[in-house]
Amino acid sequence: MLPISDYHMHTPLCGHASGEPAEYADAALKSGLQEIGFSDHAPLFSHKDPGIAMDLSQLPGYHRTIEDIREKFSARLTVRIGIEADYMPGYEKETRAMLAAYPYDYVIGSVHFIAQWGFDDPIQLMEWDKKDVNTIYREHFKLIRQSALSGLFDILGHVDLVKKFDFHPTEDMSEEIEENARTFKKAGVVVEINSSGLHKPAGEIYPSQAHLKAYRKQGVLITFGSDAHKPQQVGRDFDKARDWALAAGYDNYVMFAKRKIVKTVKL
Ligand SMILES: [Zn+2]
Ligand SMILES: [Zn+2]
Repeated sequence: MLPISDYHMHTPLCGHASGEPAEYADAALKSGLQEIGFSDHAPLFSHKDPGIAMDLSQLPGYHRTIEDIREKFSARLTVRIGIEADYMPGYEKETRAMLAAYPYDYVIGSVHFIAQWGFDDPIQLMEWDKKDVNTIYREHFKLIRQSALSGLFDILGHVDLVKKFDFHPTEDMSEEIEENARTFKKAGVVVEINSSGLHKPAGEIYPSQAHLKAYRKQGVLITFGSDAHKPQQVGRDFDKARDWALAAGYDNYVMFAKRKIVKTVKL
């Protein structure tokens, strides 16, 4: 069966998504989903960028809007309130306080920055030429492990986002991948299968089969997310995402409420 829940979608508050939340919910119903979760980009503490994330002052409005959608669609669709928060070393305290201030169903932790460098930002693409690709991969994975161990997050988003622009390591990363898997299991975090990678230069779902197989071996659980930045992207490529999970040995995924796993669903 296709996944019935999509846990990764944005709202215009982040400055680079379009469409009203109600349109995302409508699109979800049309594509046969039974549950969605909004997970817009949480305010950044390192710097302000209205094109990347909402401002702290917009957070109450975000919650009001999603609560409203939850109410309106309650008879037809389960709507969860999540958020996608950046992991940045040094800002754990602020992030923890922000996340504790609202009743989330789940929090997705993502790494979009190595130090201050937005490595997945097309505007900062030329930085890739100045650095060693293997070092970038190792730094990224180290941050991902730190994010898992921080205790801030329930789900880790697009854990091999570093492949987005189709730059790949020239050295073997299997040790890193194994260490990631062990760390995720130890930390009790769930990993997201994110279908948006298919529409990026990498042309592949996040994370790769090598990652997923290692997680499966360790017993790390999964969720599904389209990372929709437009209503028509809700649930996109979930047939491929399901096949991707099955190919790595997964036969189920989990659903959240109030920051706890409440259901396991068969694929
Ligand atoms: Zn985004
Ligand atoms: Zn992201």
